[in-house]
Amino acid sequence: MELIVAHDRAGLEKARSSGRVALVPTMGALHEGHRSLMRVARTLADQVVVSIFVNPLQFGPAEDFSRYPRTFDSDLDICAAEGVDVVFAPSADDMYRPDRQVSLSAGRMGAMVEGAVRPGHFDGVLTVVMKLFNLVGPQVAVFGQKDAQQLALIRRMVADLDLPVEVVGAPTVREPDGLALSSRNRYLTPDDRQRALALSRALHAGAARLSPAAVRAAAEGELAASGLVADYVVLVDPATFAEIPDDFRGEAVLAVAAKVGTTRLIDNVLIAF
Ligand code: AMP
Repeated sequence: MELIVAHDRAGLEKARSSGRVALVPTMGALHEGHRSLMRVARTLADQVVVSIFVNPLQFGPAEDFSRYPRTFDSDLDICAAEGVDVVFAPSADDMYRPDRQVSLSAGRMGAMVEGAVRPGHFDGVLTVVMKLFNLVGPQVAVFGQKDAQQLALIRRMVADLDLPVEVVGAPTVREPDGLALSSRNRYLTPDDRQRALALSRALHAGAARLSPAAVRAAAEGELAASGLVADYVVLVDPATFAEIPDDFRGEAVLAVAAKVGTTRLIDNVLIAF
């Protein structure tokens, strides 16, 4: 089957199938992490739709919207190679009416951890994902665990707003040396690339400890030793993103964010207590 590229709602409407549809939302600059999501989606539905849209709503005024990598032609090659059925790549003008008024709020949970550093970011994420759900009409949507708080908030949106979409999380894909794949990794200089390994090293050091306090201390220690200044090192409940107490039982997320050179990176691992 030939890959269909839809640049607007009309094109998407024509490409829509009556079978089970899986959606993989992305901002393009596709890499092996995105590919793994496409492969999961392939096993879940008859038609796989990948959206490619650099969403202006989720970038703050001082963030990297204008320099975010855009590699559309090679993105299409990747989608075709993964057997994707439809790429939906709208323009910002097509997505957002100039006089738009209504958007979603990610609530208190959207203002925690990553949301505390990037005010409004998750409101923008939920608004665009809700629009993509409405436009594409998927039965299932696949998101990466790499963006753990985003995944948690999308699950929360689906529950709170009764959306008829199953949300599936997929594990983080890493380079052999531990660095989590990210579209932003291409900004890293060779020196930055080396220093960026401190994030996954910190997570690894934390994951080897037994108590929440020891996990936090090990991860913070590893980051401090690397000379990187972290935006946060947190150990939280994956469903609520609230810090876990010391007697917590179950699976927690150890999440870090730090600027390496001019590039801000995030990473996380799941740890069972
Ligand atoms: P992005 O294009 O960065 O907005 O990401 C689109 C989707 O790919 C999101 O669901 C991300 O969580 C997911 N993703 C990004 N990087 C990775 C990775 N290294 N492994 C798995 N999924 C990822």
